[in-house]
Amino acid sequence: MSTHRYLLKGAALPDGSKADVLIAHGCIEKIDLNLIDAHATLIDVTGSVLLPGLVDLHTHLREPGREDAETVLSGSRSGAKGGFTALSAMANTSPVADNAGVVEQVFRLGQEAGLLDVFPIGAVTQGLKGQALSEIGAMADSIARVRVFSDDGNCVFDPLVMRRALEYIKKFDGVIAQHAQEPRLTVGSQMNEGSVSSILGLKGWPAIAEEAIIARDVLLTDHVKSRLHICHVTTAGGVEIIRWAKARGINVTAEVTPHHLLLTDELARSYDPIFKVNPPLRSEKDVMALREALAEGVIDIVATDHAPHSLESKECEWQEASFGMLGLETALSIVQKTMVDTRLIGWAQVADRLSTAPARIAGYQGQGRNLQIGAKANLTVINPSATWVVDKDLVASNSRNTPFHGYELPGVVTHTFFNGIATLCDGLLHSNGEIA
Ligand SMILES: [Zn+2]
Repeated sequence: MSTHRYLLKGAALPDGSKADVLIAHGCIEKIDLNLIDAHATLIDVTGSVLLPGLVDLHTHLREPGREDAETVLSGSRSGAKGGFTALSAMANTSPVADNAGVVEQVFRLGQEAGLLDVFPIGAVTQGLKGQALSEIGAMADSIARVRVFSDDGNCVFDPLVMRRALEYIKKFDGVIAQHAQEPRLTVGSQMNEGSVSSILGLKGWPAIAEEAIIARDVLLTDHVKSRLHICHVTTAGGVEIIRWAKARGINVTAEVTPHHLLLTDELARSYDPIFKVNPPLRSEKDVMALREALAEGVIDIVATDHAPHSLESKECEWQEASFGMLGLETALSIVQKTMVDTRLIGWAQVADRLSTAPARIAGYQGQGRNLQIGAKANLTVINPSATWVVDKDLVASNSRNTPFHGYELPGVVTHTFFNGIATLCDGLLHSNGEIA
């Protein structure tokens, strides 16, 4: 029952054409040249690109349990600021989202925040322990209608447990999102295994620890004819396995994070734990392979792995620091810098990789729609010719652990519309969609 009415003038659509877009009653009501509407709020977006609202398949919101690092509300604000209209809340909260009660709690908190859709992800195993399956069916049947299951943070290591999970989710077209990390090969690992880890004396994390699980799980998925999603792929070898699996018709999709599209393990030389992340930053060769794979579609989507951490868990010695970095507010700029400005992809592919494809993989209704009359107005406006400097003290997240502090990045997200209401307008967050 939105009375919000906006007329976007001069938008560049992802396909390069130009149009005015009228948003009313929560939907895209008109797309045409030279639209006039006496009742709408006029927004001049000349020179900006209008994208379907971004959909993140991999977000850590920390509520319940670590509200000091992030809440569903603060994470929603961070998402809206970054151009997102849907987030997927990972299950590694405290308590773990391994039952209907917790996923319904997170789902309701998302609705109360009201800035974007918060879709809870359910744990694959009870307590993320990798042994007994969680209440997958109850979570799927809950009001949160969970379809994506993940023990992210941990790998579902036991192949029999993984097989059972893959079989179980077939009933309702679910998907298992695997954090591919062979635990025996990564005991105490601190960073990518390579020449830099040897020089620094930090315990290495070999690429094969990721690739061995990807290989095993595409084979398992083929064997039981289920559906698999690989979280945060970081290695050139992992890309090759996924390419092979797709060529064989195995139902696998994959994601890459913005930070793995730009940063390398050379940054660990600073010993600054802001660059400590799981999976670790890899080599330049891996970064280039990931960009190519995303352009080709071997890697289907970009997902942030937004991982807020309190100051004390990041401002300490490297060995003691937590793994993870913020991602929501910089994701689109990093994709523009690494993929668009390098001419690997255009805005139509950005719309696919950050909105349409993730919504399709997770089955999110009302999200990831192409710009068309009658579609829910979940939209993002980015000015690609503007630049901004990342300031960790100005983020909307409750945490400050962005690795991009001080970076000048291309592309400013100016507006986000969630179900036809502006949640971000001229770069300012709006809780109720009113433009001051
Ligand atoms: Zn993970």
